[in-house]
Amino acid sequence: MTDTLHIDDLGTVLGVWAHPDDEAYLSAALMAAARDLGHRVVVATATGGEAGGDGDVRLRELTESLAAVGVSEHHHLGFEDGLCGAVQAEVGMVAVLRLLRQVRPDTVLTFGPDGMTGHPDHVAVGGWVDRAWHVNGHRGRLLHATLTESFHRRWGPLSAATGLWMPGAAPPSVPDDTVALRVSVAGANADRKFAALRAHASQTDALRTRVGDGTFRQWWGAETFLQVAPVEGLAA
Ligand SMILES: [Zn+2]
Repeated sequence: MTDTLHIDDLGTVLGVWAHPDDEAYLSAALMAAARDLGHRVVVATATGGEAGGDGDVRLRELTESLAAVGVSEHHHLGFEDGLCGAVQAEVGMVAVLRLLRQVRPDTVLTFGPDGMTGHPDHVAVGGWVDRAWHVNGHRGRLLHATLTESFHRRWGPLSAATGLWMPGAAPPSVPDDTVALRVSVAGANADRKFAALRAHASQTDALRTRVGDGTFRQWWGAETFLQVAPVEGLAA
């Protein structure tokens, strides 16, 4: 199942993430490429990221970051940063379900059960989206952001040294030939992804300065996704 999907297959894209900056790290190049092809791209963030800095600053950064990749549709789900894991799963699910019914995406992007970095907000939000997708009758394809074995071979030590993963968390690592979609971040797309990440200055400046711009760009130089198969019997 190598790269079975291409950007022009994606149709309307809805990314559902936990914090401002998740969407940039995991899907900025995808969003830029999809917008270039004229697809509608909508981003939802469960929280304003207020635990990681001033909430107004973070939302302003998010708006600027999305603009760098041509996205103007954003939904803020209004949950509290750091507390998504404490939200009743049904409440989170219903918020996402409402969004699915409103946006009617052909493709939904979110975290896998690993939560990428193991952040409890990421794990919770990914779970809400999965459940909402099931309840909505598996409409549209659901893609989970993931990392590949080749990513870890190259970037595992740097990722660990910079504290990317939550303590005790196991980041996703899948064989490269199992990803359904790989967006390579090159050329103009790379510049736009870098601009999207830089716009989240309160979150990315320290890390970018620490490793240097060149390394920072290459580190986030691919976006990979697994396609989720519908699980019958889970739909309400
Ligand atoms: Zn996050």
